[in-house]
Amino acid sequence: MLDALTVEKHGAETPVSIREDFPILSGTGAAAGAVYLDNAATTHKPTPVLDAIVDYYTTANSNVGRGYHRLAFAATDRFDQARRTVASAIGAGSPDEVVFTGGTTDGVNLVAATAGAELVGPGDQVLITGMEHNSNLLPWRRLCEERGAELVVVPVGPDGATSLEAFDAALGDRVRIAAISHVSNVLGTVNPVREMTALARRRGAVVVVDGAQAVAHRPVDVAGIGADFYCFSAHKMYGPQGVGVLHGRSERLADLPPYRVGGGTVKGVRFDEPVSYVPTPARLEAGTPDVAGAVGLAAAFDYLRRLGFEQVRRHDAELVRYAVSALGEIGGVRVVGAPERDPSGIVSFVVDGIHPYDVGGYLDQHGIAVRCGVHCASTFLDALGLLGTVRLSFGVYNTTEEVDEVCRALRSVRPGTWTAEHPNARFL
Ligand code: PMP
Repeated sequence: MLDALTVEKHGAETPVSIREDFPILSGTGAAAGAVYLDNAATTHKPTPVLDAIVDYYTTANSNVGRGYHRLAFAATDRFDQARRTVASAIGAGSPDEVVFTGGTTDGVNLVAATAGAELVGPGDQVLITGMEHNSNLLPWRRLCEERGAELVVVPVGPDGATSLEAFDAALGDRVRIAAISHVSNVLGTVNPVREMTALARRRGAVVVVDGAQAVAHRPVDVAGIGADFYCFSAHKMYGPQGVGVLHGRSERLADLPPYRVGGGTVKGVRFDEPVSYVPTPARLEAGTPDVAGAVGLAAAFDYLRRLGFEQVRRHDAELVRYAVSALGEIGGVRVVGAPERDPSGIVSFVVDGIHPYDVGGYLDQHGIAVRCGVHCASTFLDALGLLGTVRLSFGVYNTTEEVDEVCRALRSVRPGTWTAEHPNARFL
């Protein structure tokens, strides 16, 4: 049996279960007794992250970068420190390469609206893979529609992976931007982003990586990957919701016009003078930022660092292999893709003759939270020829016993009320 990870605790003689760090796991109401296997949608938050947010609001709350009093300086210090922590955690060249955003979706939209609008014109191409989440698809699709450009999709194979050969073959001379996910949120497929980036940049394309599903499961080294932009969300890596990061190579960020304009982006404004914007990252962070969110994100990185990615990856791999093998023993259940090839905490499956929503609803009746349906990636499900899947996604607190609970429930699942013809069958 594989337990949740353990952590050293001050004053405790032996390491204690990491589950003790997550108050919601012993929570009441909707949280009571839940087996939470929907971590790819959002992870739970550990006490150190919650404490960091409360501490910010109780000891330093103020506005950043503008007030001229000690509390404002304290808040600005916390915000700057958070940026330094993130920069060092992801191997950024400097803290100025870290732009705080509202999350992955916000980061991709920022790049599409700024770099995208400058780079992409009529007849140009934007390349994405066939496994993209809507958040790394719709901003590019809209950009192409607005610019008279073409959205080109690298096909995925039957195993749900994009081959380097297919990617290379699609990289024609007209590709200005290649936008690729690091890890698929549907199947957990890991893209060779370093190699893909090298190929695309050699052909002159700007590379944007959607790292939403990578950051909680593997150490991300943005300099090593070498992309122009790398986006992720705090809430999928044990941090708070509604905040994230856009990492940009400094020379790329330096060229970007402001995304939104407003307070914090300018040196000063006069009606009779052109507007002069401050350098990035502040130029791209108009308005009051989510300072507590940034502080919470930094605390989440500290938390993961203390756990160590070696341990996190081992835990992921054991859970994924266990789930693949246990699900494989249940008649009518088929795991999609090859999640055990490079485990990233996700196992998606289908049950013969039963709609994924019926499976998800049945598991919920057993107190098990999973995601079912198209996972905001209906185009990927279309390519796989599936109506949807049921997705188990693991976090550091999950155990093989919880996988056993899923399997026990699956043995008695029956077709229910959902059908392919249901009006909402494909929307989520
Ligand atoms: N990309 C991927 C691969 C995702 O899994 C998600 C979240 N499901 C997003 C982008 C969007 O993230 P957010 O909602 O935090 O902006």
